[in-house]
Amino acid sequence: MLKDSVKNSVKKELKCLLKSMDFISNNFLNREDINKGKLQIYFNIYQQLGLTWEFLALQCKHWDGYKKVKSGMVCRTCGKVKDTHDFYYLIPEMGFKKIGKMLKPSSQKSFNNKRKAQILNDTIEFHGALLNVDVHNSYKSNLLKGKNEINIAAERNVMLKEQGIKCYIDGHLINVELNNKGRKVGKKIYGNFPWEIKGEKLKKFPVIFDFDESYKLLGLTILT
Ligand SMILES: [Zn+2]
Repeated sequence: MLKDSVKNSVKKELKCLLKSMDFISNNFLNREDINKGKLQIYFNIYQQLGLTWEFLALQCKHWDGYKKVKSGMVCRTCGKVKDTHDFYYLIPEMGFKKIGKMLKPSSQKSFNNKRKAQILNDTIEFHGALLNVDVHNSYKSNLLKGKNEINIAAERNVMLKEQGIKCYIDGHLINVELNNKGRKVGKKIYGNFPWEIKGEKLKKFPVIFDFDESYKLLGLTILT
């Protein structure tokens, strides 16, 4: 019911707006007897209506399908060309928000540089938490000091940062970087499996492993 009323009101608003745009275009923009200053004003009005159209069309779900015109297929309701990218996002203030869709590496090919291999690199700060999604195909890189080119694997990397703590997730590992602000600069950094560390040293780590009866790791908790 609510969906229908949104649909009807968006359709109505779009119809009126498109009519206004046509009115300005037909009556003022194509007239030869109009002076330059006035023409500029009408041109600006048309542009502003165009911006309104862009925002209003974000609500259109292209309910009535597309029709064929010279420039391709356009929505019967909002007039947007099929499969064009939206410049803005429309998200509700209350409730669930969704931006974009799950993207993964899309090619077996190794590209010459990261720019060509990049599919997405986008960041959002959401109520104080920072989230970055970086998706790329495989590419050649010589940035890592060595003279020889190395092949960077295709990957989908997600990074969440909260309270100075960073959590990285990719297809092969999950890495948590604690807020190391107080750490003394210059001290060496180590990395070991738990069984490689002496029991008494292990006690310094406030980590709890969650596992099932067959010792399958289910997760872990770090007390901070
Ligand atoms: Zn539409």
